[in-house]
Parts: sequence; C-alpha cells; structure tokens
Amino acid sequence: MKNLKKFALPAVFWLIFETIAVTLWLTKDNLFYLLNFSYIGTSIAAGFLLFKLRYKHARRVAQFLVGTYMLVYLGLISNENMQIEGFWYYLFTGVFEAATIHYAVAKIFGPLIFGRGWCGFACWTAMILDLLPYKTPEQHRKKWGFIRYITFVLSFLFVSALFLAQVKDMERIMFWAFLVGNFLYYTVGIILAFALKDNRAFCKYICPITVFLKPMSYFSLMRIKCDESKCISCGKCKRVCPMDVDVTDNSRKRENRTECILCMECVKSCPKNAL
Ligand code: SF4
Ligand code: SF4
Ligand code: SF4
Repeated sequence: MKNLKKFALPAVFWLIFETIAVTLWLTKDNLFYLLNFSYIGTSIAAGFLLFKLRYKHARRVAQFLVGTYMLVYLGLISNENMQIEGFWYYLFTGVFEAATIHYAVAKIFGPLIFGRGWCGFACWTAMILDLLPYKTPEQHRKKWGFIRYITFVLSFLFVSALFLAQVKDMERIMFWAFLVGNFLYYTVGIILAFALKDNRAFCKYICPITVFLKPMSYFSLMRIKCDESKCISCGKCKRVCPMDVDVTDNSRKRENRTECILCMECVKSCPKNAL
C-alpha cells in the first residue's frame, strides 16, 4: 500500500497532462498536441516519481527534460516564441496556439491545481539559475516585487507597438524577440543571483510571468502543509526554502504564500516528515 502511494501523485499528474494532450489533439486535429503534452506530462510525472523514490536530483531531471525541450526544440528549432511576448502575440492574432495554450495550461489555469509547479519543475530560465551557488538566499528579501509589473507592462507594450506599427514579418521579429528576451533573462538573472546571493532573485523581483502565476497559485489545490502534531519547530524547512515561504503556517495568508514553487526542498529537509 505504501509503495502504491508513491505512484499516486506522479500518476495524477500524468493523467492530467494526458487528458489535456488527448483533448487538444482531438479538438484541434493536430497530433503535435498529443506528443507535446504527453512528453511534458511524462517528464514531470517522472520527476515526481524519482522524488518519491528519494532520488536527490529528481526535480532537476524534470526541469532539464521540459526546459531544454521548450527552449531548444520549440523555441530555437520550431521558432515558437514561448515567452510572454509570444503569448501576447498569439493573443492579439486571436490564435489559440502554441504560447497561448502553454500559458493557459502552465501559467494561468494550471496553477489553480498545481500552483507554481511550473517554476519548480519546468521553467527553462530557472533550469540554469538553479545551477548557481546560492540555493538558499543569504540576504533578507528586498521589497522589489513591483519590478515584475514594469517588465510585464513593457512586454505588453512591445508587442502592442509592433501591431500598431503594422510591422511586416512579425514571425521573424518574434523569433528574434525570443532570442534577445532569453539572453536578457539569463544575463539579468545570473547577475542578480550573484549580487544578492540568491539564485531565485530573478523569480522574486523581475519575472513578468509571476503576474499571472502568483494570484492563480493562491487558490492552488496542491500546497505544502505542515502536520503540527509532528512538527518540532526546528526551523529547517524555512532555512532551506529558496523563496522565503513561512512553511509551517498552514493558512493561505502565510508569509510569501504565492512564492512557493513546490521545489520540495522543505519536505526533503524535515526530520519529522511533518510536511
Ligand atoms: S518565476 Fe519566472 S523565471 Fe522564475 S521559475 Fe517561474 S516562470 Fe521561471
Ligand atoms: S523542518 Fe519539519 S519539524 Fe522542523 S519546523 Fe519544519 S515542519 Fe517542523
Ligand atoms: S522549500 Fe517548500 S515552501 Fe519553499 S518553495 Fe520549496 S516547496 Fe515551497
């Protein structure tokens, strides 16, 4: 029974993604969606399964499987801009394709179920940032979260300006926007990580996608909860959390509640299996 339980969460995740894969394949009559979402779902389910089997780098496996696929195959080879500019672009053209579907699943409606699991298990920006030396922040959190709204508005204005100016060859421009955007994200993310001694500084202050992710993940079904009858208040979970979440507070109003990226570091570190 205990062994079966290990497969429950990965199986649920796999089934959710398979349902999306089959639904989109049939409704849009496009085999790509079946392959795409099956691959992503299987990769994330594999990450969860390896975590349950106590493999140390379980999350990193999922992050690299999904992250490299989206960055290299979808972005660089297939020329799909999967960044926020791509989302605006497809939204403005009224096409429910690539980036709009990706955003709907991973970043807008999906977080109602799996919170910011995207940030912990799949994001290609964090895939690189998590390799840096500052896995847990060495400084207090800054009050710089407002910057994410500026980058969010700038991305919207950039794509709006292209449409208003009726620029030709938009597809090509969006491809270059993807290259330049990723270059900027990685550069700023790495500089910030070293300057603030915090790998996830970019996620905390700059990333425009959190404008979608944070409010939706507030309602997430999947959350880290603390079993107070087991907890001995040792504080280890809070010390290892890369996002400064007040892990032992079970209320939805806990400090930095929408920052949790479901990385499971707190769960791994708890000596009493209270999380
Ligand atoms: S906050 Fe942004 S950069 Fe960080 S993991 Fe989430 S989507 Fe990626
Ligand atoms: S690590 Fe576990 S026991 Fe320690 S404070 Fe956190 S939940 Fe409680
Ligand atoms: S350590 Fe725990 S509370 Fe902190 S982000 Fe990871 S899963 Fe969420």
